[in-house]
Amino acid sequence: MDLNLRHPPNTKTSTSASTAPPHEDVKFKRASDALPLPLYLTNGIFFTLFFSVAYFLLHRWRDKIRTSTPLHVLSLSEISALFCLLASVIYLLGFFGIDFVQSFISRPTSHDHHVWLDDGHQTNSIDDEQYILEEDSRPPGPCPASLDSSQVVPHHHLSVAPIPISSFKPLSLSEEDEEIIKSVVSGTIPSYSLESKLGDCKRAAAIRREALQKMTGKSLEGMPLEGFDYESILGQCCEMPVGYVQIPVGVAGPLLLDGKEYTVPMATTEGCLVASTNRGCKAIYASGGATSVLFKDGMTRAPVVRFGSAKRAAELKFFVVDPLNFDTLATVFNRSSRFAKLQGIQCAVAGKNLYMRFSCSTGDAMGMNMVSKGVQNVLDFLHNDFPDMDVIGISGNFCSDKKPAAVNWIEGRGKSVVCEAIIKEEVVKKVLKTNVGALVELNMLKNLTGSAVAGALGGFNAHASNIVSAIYIATGQDPAQNVESSHCITMMEPINDGKDLHISVTMPSIEVGTVGGGTQLASQSACLNLLGVKGANKDKPGSNSRALASIVAGSVLAGEVSLMSAIAAGQLVKSHMKYNRSSKDFTNIAS
Ligand code: ADP
Repeated sequence: MDLNLRHPPNTKTSTSASTAPPHEDVKFKRASDALPLPLYLTNGIFFTLFFSVAYFLLHRWRDKIRTSTPLHVLSLSEISALFCLLASVIYLLGFFGIDFVQSFISRPTSHDHHVWLDDGHQTNSIDDEQYILEEDSRPPGPCPASLDSSQVVPHHHLSVAPIPISSFKPLSLSEEDEEIIKSVVSGTIPSYSLESKLGDCKRAAAIRREALQKMTGKSLEGMPLEGFDYESILGQCCEMPVGYVQIPVGVAGPLLLDGKEYTVPMATTEGCLVASTNRGCKAIYASGGATSVLFKDGMTRAPVVRFGSAKRAAELKFFVVDPLNFDTLATVFNRSSRFAKLQGIQCAVAGKNLYMRFSCSTGDAMGMNMVSKGVQNVLDFLHNDFPDMDVIGISGNFCSDKKPAAVNWIEGRGKSVVCEAIIKEEVVKKVLKTNVGALVELNMLKNLTGSAVAGALGGFNAHASNIVSAIYIATGQDPAQNVESSHCITMMEPINDGKDLHISVTMPSIEVGTVGGGTQLASQSACLNLLGVKGANKDKPGSNSRALASIVAGSVLAGEVSLMSAIAAGQLVKSHMKYNRSSKDFTNIAS
């Protein structure tokens, strides 16, 4: 079962945190903070005080009952004892009680509970906060696996003697912040709870960052903290932030696609990628532009269910694929969202297990959440007729998300797009510095035959993933879906008596959205705005995300024609070097 429960963002907590008044910070002040004594000593004193005065008062009251003395008549010693009892109760409650009480106050409501699937998307209800508390027994701070093991200091060491970080550039942190950092380092305050406790996401990130540096002994200098809206990622995009990574955004274009001009933002650190794509755009533009057709639009999710026998699994398959049942199942499924429309259910039986690949259109959202909710609705419904159905996982990998799988390559996932252009002979020569024959031959031997030799799965292209990843990062898509979104077959043919080049890219699994996920973040939203596909399309829901998918395919076309030309030209140079002996001889003679 690959249903992974992860640390989900707590929407309820985050909302309340972000609106919490500043005095909420007082929660971090424990009674012990006011005392100059070490924590264990203070705790010891108050525990002893509490039990001794309680014992004393109980004895006194027993004596009074025996001697029929009214209980409210108090001696000086009893008044002092009562005072001490009250003080110790206040201290002990302050120290041990607040977190307990807070866990009730900030406990999320049922619709804030989500199960995180293997692809990181959320669905369904589970008490996530409780899950974290029960399951996350790791020491606070960064994932140990992410640290250089040679440098990791055991947690119990950290709590006793944090590594001094004198060389790190200090942030402007208040004394109170310093105290909180100490608590995070010692483990008394869990790092993940900073946002909800402080009600200030930026301050939480700053404190976590300082604590992290102290715990690991490694500097984060160079990773900026300032200049980012940490509220915008809370509960949606990233947990436990300590800063952000800067990725430059370049632009390629104009890309002339379906009669419109687009300037394509690409976030990358690979030199030449933007320049090369830009050159491809130039070649396409000079040849009259590219044309795209989106021929399928359906996000998928495939749960795995198990029965006591293969016969029962097959019975459910027959039920699900029966056209007479489709309308009912679609009605149940489509309740997940006004944008979700069930298109079909593809089934695969494996022994007693059934995999049902639900496919649905999702408007302008990439759609994983939407489809998962719809699937959950149907599974609940199917339980009525198939009570012996055991739902093993809402994701059974027949979906298939973020893994190379033939099902996506053959059936498609998300948007399936074909994009073509005719590059004129003179453009091939002048802009791409090669010729049609060389390009066609290279495509056949590299992208088709070479990939076949390599046993490629959807990788019949030169570098589609380069362009897909750069656009995905720039526009707030899920970069992990690059795995299947980059499936692409690039075809090249000579046309018009071999003078011009027909090039096409066919991409069956482009998974993009213009609402939800990272698309709402400021920088990513700006990139979508540049393309004219920002947010939800009110008039024609889904047309923004479909346009984005076409832009991705058009940009891949530009990238393919440019890189292939560079390689073909390189081959040409090599051929010249190899076969033009006279120049080689000439060089030898000259030297
Ligand atoms: P995903 O399914 O891609 O993870 P979400 O379900 O998180 O995305 O985000 C989609 C949300 O945006 C839904 O709540 C949906 O109701 C809302 N929404 C608003 N307008 C649109 C639209 N045009 N297309 C799709 N979803 C939209």
